[in-house]
Amino acid sequence: MSEKDILVFAEHKGQSIIDVTYEIISKICEVKNKDDKVGILLLGSAVDDNYIERLFRCGANTLLHYNDKLLNEYDLDRHSYVITEFIHHNKPGVLLFAATDIGMELAPKVAARLKTGLTAHITDLYFDENHNLVQQVPGFGGNLLVNIICPDKRPQLITFKPGVFEIKENRNNPKNVVSLSPPSFIPQNRIKLINSYVITESDQNEEEIFKKDIIISGGWGMKNCGDFELINKLAEKLNTAVCGTRPAYDEGWIPENRVIGQSGINVAPKIFISIGASGAMHYTTGFSGAKKIIAINKDKNAPIFEYCDLGIVADIEVFLSKLAAGMK
Ligand SMILES: Cc1cc2nc3c(=O)[nH]c(=O)nc-3n(C[C@H](O)[C@H](O)[C@H](O)COP(=O)(O)OP(=O)(O)OC[C@H]3O[C@@H](n4cnc5c(N)ncnc54)[C@H](O)[C@@H]3O)c2cc1C
Repeated sequence: MSEKDILVFAEHKGQSIIDVTYEIISKICEVKNKDDKVGILLLGSAVDDNYIERLFRCGANTLLHYNDKLLNEYDLDRHSYVITEFIHHNKPGVLLFAATDIGMELAPKVAARLKTGLTAHITDLYFDENHNLVQQVPGFGGNLLVNIICPDKRPQLITFKPGVFEIKENRNNPKNVVSLSPPSFIPQNRIKLINSYVITESDQNEEEIFKKDIIISGGWGMKNCGDFELINKLAEKLNTAVCGTRPAYDEGWIPENRVIGQSGINVAPKIFISIGASGAMHYTTGFSGAKKIIAINKDKNAPIFEYCDLGIVADIEVFLSKLAAGMK
């Protein structure tokens, strides 16, 4: 590998590589220079071949595979050690992780070991003329988009939240797999695994939201309208998921895994309906991939109206009651 090469850590759950890995590959292939190569680092021997083939359809050039069952189960010490050793020997210019529970733990540990920079939860990125990755995140209360670069250190580390970028399987790269032997010394697992189980129900709920065609999301403006009652009723009629802003979570109207935005989840449904939310950038980055955005707010100057395809200036209670009556 060279400083121009990009490495993506492939995160897997059992036999399957998780979707965000494909999202990262698709996005980086869109912005990289033509000659830059994309390598995928996969640890463990559990992953099914179909998932490996999909990496190449999204634009991977090489799979770098520590095909060893010792690495099947995620372990912070082991994984960070193996990845750091790989980087020391191969020196890619960019290293990308998913901002999942695993990625958010692993990426900072690897960055600290390599003494390099890490940008979390980027909302967009591109290369500048010096081959620095310009990494965009909302900053200063969500009122500005901040460009971050890491000019002096390599690799440049970044985490990507699930659902921000689209998976594009529009390439047909040859399947090029390099098998690697794990380093001779791998740290002992300091945590003793007594038992493990899959929390299927909540996993499914998490996944379901990303598949919904319509998502309704409420903000603090629901406060004087019976909280989320009207939204829940509408969602039931439309058979859609309910999400909300951070204040909606603070009020206890939605669970934490339904907060949309910078510190919550990202969704990209066909239709996103935002009700009673002002439209802070921390929130709007969470649905930038939606095909159509409809916003309802009583304040005609609310920033959300800069962001939506269809804006309705109305009092929520009046609007939703009329809508419900019309849908009967
Ligand atoms: C580091 C950081 C990360 C953050 N991450 C997130 C995040 O991930 N997600 C997130 O949502 N926020 C996040 N925030 C907070 C974010 O900056 C905003 O404060 C928040 O999104 C505002 O939520 P809101 O729109 O529900 O409330 P408000 O800004 O209070 O807006 C309420 C809106 O409701 C309208 N309204 C009130 N009553 C009615 C009515 N009767 N009819 C119609 N409209 C009405 C008002 O006009 C107003 O525009 C973050 C902040 C920081 C600093």
